Amino acid sequence: MDKRILLKAPAKINLSLDVLHKRADGYHEVKMVMTTIDLADRIELRAIDENKIRIVTQNRFVPDDERNLAYQAAKLLKERYEVNKGVEISISKVIPVAAGLAGGSSDAAATLRGLNQLWGLDLTIDELARLGAEIGSDVSFCVYGGTAIATGRGEKIEHIISPPPCWVILAKPTIGVSTADIYRNLKLDEVNHPDIEAMVQAINNQDFKSICENVGNVLESVTLRLYPEVNHIKSKMINFGADAVLMSGSGPTVYGLVQYQSRLQRIYNGLRGFCDHVYAVRILGNRNES
Ligand code: ATP
Repeated sequence: MDKRILLKAPAKINLSLDVLHKRADGYHEVKMVMTTIDLADRIELRAIDENKIRIVTQNRFVPDDERNLAYQAAKLLKERYEVNKGVEISISKVIPVAAGLAGGSSDAAATLRGLNQLWGLDLTIDELARLGAEIGSDVSFCVYGGTAIATGRGEKIEHIISPPPCWVILAKPTIGVSTADIYRNLKLDEVNHPDIEAMVQAINNQDFKSICENVGNVLESVTLRLYPEVNHIKSKMINFGADAVLMSGSGPTVYGLVQYQSRLQRIYNGLRGFCDHVYAVRILGNRNES
């Protein structure tokens, strides 16, 4: 029988992102509040006769070889658990690439979860998350989804409840931003650090207004300085009436939180006037159990 598994690989946004210090191993120690949103790539895993990993994607910005994070996820499982089977991983890209939305990490996380099933490995979700950390800092969070506080280099996950339902409007300018570049230009003694505790408390209290008051991203000032078009989108989104506006990850995607659907259409139309990549989605409350 033809064995196939279909999975959704959702994007994340950072409601809060702080960088604490640079570690001896070269990584930055971070503290972030992340949540998954209903903007998702679709991953199809198909057993193939040949004992190899094949990536299929139509997106010319996504590598179809061992540089693909989904490929690395399959390779890790294959080697660690001595799996002598082949798989074709088809990736239908919906999440913009190199946008600060963890698209590649989410593809890798979905691949880990799907292959656990396809290859009958019987690994727990915690084991999959630990494997994810070997692929990239955001992969562990993406394995679980939902809403969490992430510390360490992003791989230590503490689950929290999700924010109250709201809309997330995203706009991505047509520039790519290198995460490494942003970190290189970050001067930790010159930036405003967000109040993560206040954000967590606001979420625990399901207090939308306080969530909006406490969104913050220490990388934002760096990206805004290097790429003025990101600031332009931010100002527009604020003027159009979003309740809170922030850049996600190292950018360049800017998101707005919007409580009322009645206001959403106006903001969406306004942004579409000058930005090609605009999305309106919901926060995804549920986290994966397997
Ligand atoms: P993060 O928010 O975790 O920093 P990002 O959203 O900024 O991630 P990605 O979309 O994951 O960035 O892509 C970054 C780079 O990773 C791309 O330029 C691409 O070459 C490479 N890449 C590897 N695998 C994938 C994948 N499955 N999907 C997209 N990009 C991938």
